[in-house]
Amino acid sequence: MCRHLAYLGPPRDLATLLLAPPHSLLRQSYAPVDMRGGGTINADGFGAGWYPDGAITPIRYRRAVPLWTDATFAALATEVRSGAVLAAVRSATVGMPIVDTACAPFGTGRWLFSHNGRIAGWPDSVAALARRLPVTDLLTLDAPTDSALLWALVRSRLAAGESLGCAIGTVTAQVLGCAPGSRLNLLVTDGVALAATTVHHALAVRVGNGAVLICSEPIDQGSGWEPVPDRQLLTATSSAVDVVPIPAIPADMAHADPTFTEEP
Ligand code: GLN
Repeated sequence: MCRHLAYLGPPRDLATLLLAPPHSLLRQSYAPVDMRGGGTINADGFGAGWYPDGAITPIRYRRAVPLWTDATFAALATEVRSGAVLAAVRSATVGMPIVDTACAPFGTGRWLFSHNGRIAGWPDSVAALARRLPVTDLLTLDAPTDSALLWALVRSRLAAGESLGCAIGTVTAQVLGCAPGSRLNLLVTDGVALAATTVHHALAVRVGNGAVLICSEPIDQGSGWEPVPDRQLLTATSSAVDVVPIPAIPADMAHADPTFTEEP
């Protein structure tokens, strides 16, 4: 499944963060080491979102081509500096479209979002949950994919004033309730703080020197990397990290669709 990364700290150029490290997101696009049964390489697209110095709203660059083929991004990445970055490389779930708009980061306003994983039983398993969203949110999904729906669910909570951690923790629990067996590594930032969940897939965090870096796989062999255990909710600023279990499945979400049975 996809690989993702988020950084908060002193401004750095995107090439230093995403392309240059020995096990960078670039390398993880063609030689990931910890996919846990979710695909082999991440060649179905990529995306990066960054907050220009002093800006509240991020800029996004997303393309449905392998990261290693995009010379324009490589050139851009050496010039763009930011203190808040979210990026991902994609391995499309079978049956889901390979288009720019299906690539993370998803975003609206000041938020950026990524999903590593898949919703089990898509789409029937989450139809009842999706029905709770305004119809216009469903009509304007970035793409007909599980990740785009997850973003719509998270976004509606953020827009209602929930914190980053509360929004992705609640959506993770809801989806696990109606689609057991889903793989739900979610990642969201507002450029100041970030939050991430782990359900099935790998995640590592490193904090220090006024910076926090979280990624599916450590980007170098340096010290300080901590693996995030499964089924956790991580919240962080550039100076502090907190990890707690993901919330319990809400009672009204346990097998919301009575016709759905868990995949083996
Ligand atoms: N299911 C999502 C998609 O198809 C995410 C895939 C992944 O994590 N590999 O885009």
